[in-house]
Amino acid sequence: MRRHPWIFEGSVARLNGRARPGDTVEVVADNGRRLGRAAWSPHSQIRARLWSFDPDETIDHAFFKRRVAAAVAARAALPELRAQQGLRLIHGESDGLPGVIADRYGDTVVLQLNSAGGEKWRDALVAAVLQATGCARVFERSDSEVRGLEGLQARSGILHGEEVDAPVVIEEHGIRLEVDIRGGHKTGFYLDQRENRLLVRALAEGRSVLNCFCYTGGFSLQALAGGATQVISIDSSGPALEGARRNLALNPQLPAGRAEWRDADVFEEMRALKKAGARFDLIILDPPKFAPSAAHADRAARAYKDINLLGFRLLNPGGLLMTYSCSGGVGLELFQKIVAGAAGDAGADARILRRLTAAADHPAALAFPEGEYLKGLLCQAV
Ligand code: SAH
Repeated sequence: MRRHPWIFEGSVARLNGRARPGDTVEVVADNGRRLGRAAWSPHSQIRARLWSFDPDETIDHAFFKRRVAAAVAARAALPELRAQQGLRLIHGESDGLPGVIADRYGDTVVLQLNSAGGEKWRDALVAAVLQATGCARVFERSDSEVRGLEGLQARSGILHGEEVDAPVVIEEHGIRLEVDIRGGHKTGFYLDQRENRLLVRALAEGRSVLNCFCYTGGFSLQALAGGATQVISIDSSGPALEGARRNLALNPQLPAGRAEWRDADVFEEMRALKKAGARFDLIILDPPKFAPSAAHADRAARAYKDINLLGFRLLNPGGLLMTYSCSGGVGLELFQKIVAGAAGDAGADARILRRLTAAADHPAALAFPEGEYLKGLLCQAV
């Protein structure tokens, strides 16, 4: 049996009895075989999400304690994750908890509930997270767009512990970073790029760096720490750039004079840089999700092509392009084709040095390929 946890609207023949949003229902195949237990979501195309493939497992507080404890233990078992102050503890479907995200920042856990089932079991999840981590505070950031698809309103605020009155600061690879858990993107920070930020640090020595879509400067600061000669960072979000500047100030050991922040549209700014004859040794392209689903793939492909083409044109000979897509609707194969097309149009001979993914605290269950959303290529122009 395949163990994909989603049951789409079209595969549900009928609901016996009644169920409100988030209620646990038993899943039965048309041949009568009992398949498992799922959370019912009448407003979503994903009509049910399986909590368990064991049809006899009871979905109760004890169930969530077990699942959350297993997710936390899985991170603790990996030495590279054990010491992290910023860590994804629960990665939804891939941790057996569909629609549930929990990120830890120091003593604070930020919980994001993206499914009717998660919504229903909020209290159980909070209790389980507190027990598994010993953290002092749980803050809810259930304000992602996907909640609307589940028929849920946006919600955010403190669920346990003291109100958040100061920014949460974490250290990552020796760099201090402020995380805006109230208003930042996602739960405040892009934890999925943690390992790739370390790679940037390792590559930066003696290189000039252009960091496109820099958000609060995670890659930029690691590039400075790694010995970059110059780091130009671009983002169109004022608050993100303010955060980036504060992050730089939090790390007085870094050569701040080598950093420049540009509040601009990446597409326009890259063109302007090209016109001005600028060239870089390392360019990072980490754009937002251009294609949330396959339906947007065409338009997204053009946008990826555009920035990657500009990226190759702005590279010095021998330069490195680190390029990402976090779009669910664009798979690795398509992404690689787009990047290859961009290199071809730029007249660049380039090769892939590494394929990059999300950090290990963002696992992808083999039965759930959607979990593998982040793909990256480290390319070198010859
Ligand atoms: N690399 C970052 C995360 C990038 S998220 C990190 O490791 O933390 C994508 C960023 O792109 C967001 O900060 C968003 O504000 C910015 N953005 C989206 N569209 C943009 C555009 N057209 N031009 C510039 N920045 C853009």
